Amino acid sequence: MTAALHALVQISNRPCGCYIIYIDSLSVLQSLQSFHYHSHPLVFEVLDFYSRLYSRGFTVLFCWVPAHVGISGNEQADKAAKSATHFFNTSIPACDLKKHAKTNLHLKWQRQWSLETENKLYFIKPLIENWPILKNRRSDTTITRLRIGHTRATHRYLLLGEQMPMCPHCNGRMMVLHILIECQYFYAQRLRFFRTTVVTLPVLLGRNPHVQLLPFLKSIGFYSLI
Ligand SMILES: [Zn+2]
Repeated sequence: MTAALHALVQISNRPCGCYIIYIDSLSVLQSLQSFHYHSHPLVFEVLDFYSRLYSRGFTVLFCWVPAHVGISGNEQADKAAKSATHFFNTSIPACDLKKHAKTNLHLKWQRQWSLETENKLYFIKPLIENWPILKNRRSDTTITRLRIGHTRATHRYLLLGEQMPMCPHCNGRMMVLHILIECQYFYAQRLRFFRTTVVTLPVLLGRNPHVQLLPFLKSIGFYSLI
């Protein structure tokens, strides 16, 4: 948008006539087309400058060129567009600053999360994003506990100072992964509910949990222990 404003300033210093500004940003063109009271101050500035040029007899067209592909001098255009911000010493709207801070914080959070490769939840949810909440509160709590791998059945022993529980069917370590994926005792139920015996935690507990997950847990008697 700043580059568009800079182009208009350049045009205003030239003889009156017809000019075309080629822009590779579709969002800039869309903002100029549909301005409203929520618009960015820079959009108003560009439109104001544009109308002043128009009243002086100038004709200025804006043309979209996706990524300047195939146009000679595209690299110079990109470079000039990037440096355009140095020409204007304008203040930044609070909404832009807020968005910038939010993006940077999210990137930092994601970088930290990407190091948590041993975390049970990371295996299911490697990207930080909003996942839909289940309408049923009990089901939502159950899914969350399964995703983080902490349930009453698997972690109650820590609070009670007891020994780590083992699977009553195969004596394997009692973990969410064991119950949902590993324990051979539930082989038939997995086949019945998931139509396959090869399931993964991201498939069962991902953004949209498997529709048969809760019925499966109820059928094996684990649901009430979560
Ligand atoms: Zn087992």
